[in-house]
Amino acid sequence: MLGTVLDIDGGFKREKRHSPIPQAACNLIWELKPTQMMRRKNNNKHYFTRMSTRKKVHAFVRVRPTDDFAHEVIRYGDDNKSIDIHLKKDTRRGVVNNQQTDWSFKLDGVLHDASQDLVYETVAKDVISQALDGYNGTIMCYGQTGAGKTYTMTGATENYKHRGILPRALQQVFRMIEERPTHAITVRVSYLEIYNESLFDLLSTLPYVGPSVTPMTIVENPQGVFIKGLSVHLTSQEEDAFSLLFEGETNRIIASHTMNKNSSRSHCIFTIYVEAHSRTLSDEKYITSKINLVDLAGSERLGKSGSEGRVLKEATYINKSLSFLEQAIIALGDQKRDHIPFRQCKLTHALKDSLGGNCNMVLVTNIYGDAAQLEETLSSLRFASRMKLVTTEPAINEKYDAERMVKNLEKELVLLKQELAIHDSLANRSLVNYDPMDEIQIAEINSQVRRYLEGTLDEIDIINLRQIQEVFNQFRVVLSQQEQEVECALRRKYTLIDKNDFAAISAVQKAGLMDVDGHLVGEPDGQGFGLGVAPFSAKPGKKAKSKKTFKEQLSSSARKEGASSPVGGKDLDVSISKTQLTPSSKDGDVKDMLLRDRETSNIEPPSLDSPKEELRPPRPSTPPSKPVAFEDFKNERGSEINRIFKENKSILNERRKRASETTQRINAIKQEIDMTKEALNFQKSLREKQGEYENQGLMIIDEEEFLLILKLKDLKKQYRTEYQDLRDLRAEIQYCQHLVDQCRHRLLTEFDIWYNESFFIPEDMQVALKPGSSIRPGMIPVSRIMSLGEDDQDKFSQLQQTMLPEGPDSISFYNAKVKTEQKHKYLKTMMGLQQTQRK
Ligand code: ADP
Ligand code: MG
Repeated sequence: MLGTVLDIDGGFKREKRHSPIPQAACNLIWELKPTQMMRRKNNNKHYFTRMSTRKKVHAFVRVRPTDDFAHEVIRYGDDNKSIDIHLKKDTRRGVVNNQQTDWSFKLDGVLHDASQDLVYETVAKDVISQALDGYNGTIMCYGQTGAGKTYTMTGATENYKHRGILPRALQQVFRMIEERPTHAITVRVSYLEIYNESLFDLLSTLPYVGPSVTPMTIVENPQGVFIKGLSVHLTSQEEDAFSLLFEGETNRIIASHTMNKNSSRSHCIFTIYVEAHSRTLSDEKYITSKINLVDLAGSERLGKSGSEGRVLKEATYINKSLSFLEQAIIALGDQKRDHIPFRQCKLTHALKDSLGGNCNMVLVTNIYGDAAQLEETLSSLRFASRMKLVTTEPAINEKYDAERMVKNLEKELVLLKQELAIHDSLANRSLVNYDPMDEIQIAEINSQVRRYLEGTLDEIDIINLRQIQEVFNQFRVVLSQQEQEVECALRRKYTLIDKNDFAAISAVQKAGLMDVDGHLVGEPDGQGFGLGVAPFSAKPGKKAKSKKTFKEQLSSSARKEGASSPVGGKDLDVSISKTQLTPSSKDGDVKDMLLRDRETSNIEPPSLDSPKEELRPPRPSTPPSKPVAFEDFKNERGSEINRIFKENKSILNERRKRASETTQRINAIKQEIDMTKEALNFQKSLREKQGEYENQGLMIIDEEEFLLILKLKDLKKQYRTEYQDLRDLRAEIQYCQHLVDQCRHRLLTEFDIWYNESFFIPEDMQVALKPGSSIRPGMIPVSRIMSLGEDDQDKFSQLQQTMLPEGPDSISFYNAKVKTEQKHKYLKTMMGLQQTQRK
């Protein structure tokens, strides 16, 4: 094995025949072993090539047949996988590197005198075959003009035998499609030419249904790179595909005349797009792939040797695009580089997802075998050896058919729903609905949550996951509503000062309403209900946090009481003097009065005898007992709820009374039925003793017995009617009872809020305004609701039930009256309830 030394330009200097390795070159000892872990040195930095499933780009060299092959200079390795170049120093001096005369290039194969057939087999067959399995493939021909790139790629269009890679690839694709009846495979093609950094559609002359964008642009999206405006043609058979290819070739030639283009100075990219859907599986996955067949422009460096005008321009563009291609390839070969300069020119940009990446990549370097072309040949071989360093990670392009996916998911959904239904029926759960909830159902859950929080509902039954989630959601809704309500209630009643709003505080202090410690003037040691103060510059919308004026003593007693029942049991019925508590101030009163006060006396601060006492109805130093306060509440803010409550109760009592009457009647009827039955039995036994007689098959009975039978029949009918009435009444009673409970609870809840607001606001406010506070105004224990006593109305109704004012005759009269009245009341109450619920 020969030791090889990498020359700076990428070739290999053969060591054997020549002097020992120079010291500097020793650093660059390098062996090309594609799949082994390799250590390379570059600028004294060590790095490693990953040993993985990555694949090297395959680089082949095709030598153009010539009668004048430079046997002396060009030699192939024994395995036909390397080319050695040897130059006689004296003869070529000055043309190539003055020092170097030997190079060795390792390749994947040298194609010398190879038929088009062999070239295709060696170079393209596998790439095309894998494309049908979803791998992208790129085959590129590189080399100087006339070296045979076009011959390799397209071949002789007039001679079938000499057809190139392109037509053969199309043939292979369609043959493979035929072999795969299980898949619906579509083939599309496009043909792009890049000339002087401009894009040309070589198939633009064909009818095409699709967006035609001019000028064409290269667009990148998550799916890859595509050329906007380039026509992509669906082909269902080989022949159509060939027609497209020939059309493109013809256009290429025509353009070279009409547009004065030199066809060897342009890059051509023929792309075959494959998309395969399974016919048998309802799989939503499908595969796509793209085969790029690239015929690059001549790589000779024309610019060097005094070209001018059009030629110079072309040369500049070609030099640029090919050197950008080379740069991109060097970057791709360097695994430490994470940025690849693809966007420097149209060629690399258009091929961004076809160079390296997940593609199978093959390079065919076309060279002359003539000694005269050695300089360009060396340059081409260097390019090939660089390309060989590039690794790719071929991967299948799998995509999802959204429409099929939706269909499959829908099927799955139906199946799962059926599964659920079976589960439910096995678990004796009937009529569980798993559909998304509508507004009414959500409102019902909201009401359940409210009742649960209030204590009127012991537990919320679990129905399904959706319902559980909605319950949690409604908890959040109710909580935030309650927080807002508390704050609004406080704001309605009090002007709050933000403790951090120094301007507001100082304004209040200036007005003499608060001392420096935040205590209200006139309240020694800061005791008293200080929050009724109106700061003149208090900003609305800011959360108030003042707590200094809170009376500690009171607070503790308030806490104790607040924690217990608002109204103790039967206390409600106890009549208590109303003089203990005057109604609390109405909204805005405090502020208005304070302002009025300022108007009348600008200089004098308000009297030290607690300005509040003059400004608002006096607040007692200790809050009134709850029963007393409750009486006031019922006359004041709770009057409407109280009225509804009472009305509901009177309806309830009336129903109860009727139910008891009906029961009495039923009992009386039952007694009579029993008596009649007895009498009838007696008559029957009498008849039997006296001997029966028949007439024409009919039993003959006497009149008395006949009347008894009629009576019994009548009684039974009455019994049934009354019994039905009673059942209806019981249902009504149950319903009314529910309404009464609800009203009672609401009354107490509202009272609780009112009571706390009226007498304990400082502390409540502190709690309420803390973010994330768990305050739930109006919450009272269930036991309290249950133990709430009946009021006077109750007693009166009970009295009515036992004693009628004007004897039994008045029953129907009163009944009718009460009925009419209560029907109206009932309707009114229901409307009222609905309104309050809506609120
Ligand atoms: P390029 O595209 O690289 O400029 P072409 O493919 O046009 O070169 O080749 C130039 C000429 O050489 C063409 O006439 C072509 O038929 C001929 N030629 C190139 N390679 C071969 C080959 N392997 N066998 C036969 N003729 C070839
Ligand atoms: Mg060509």
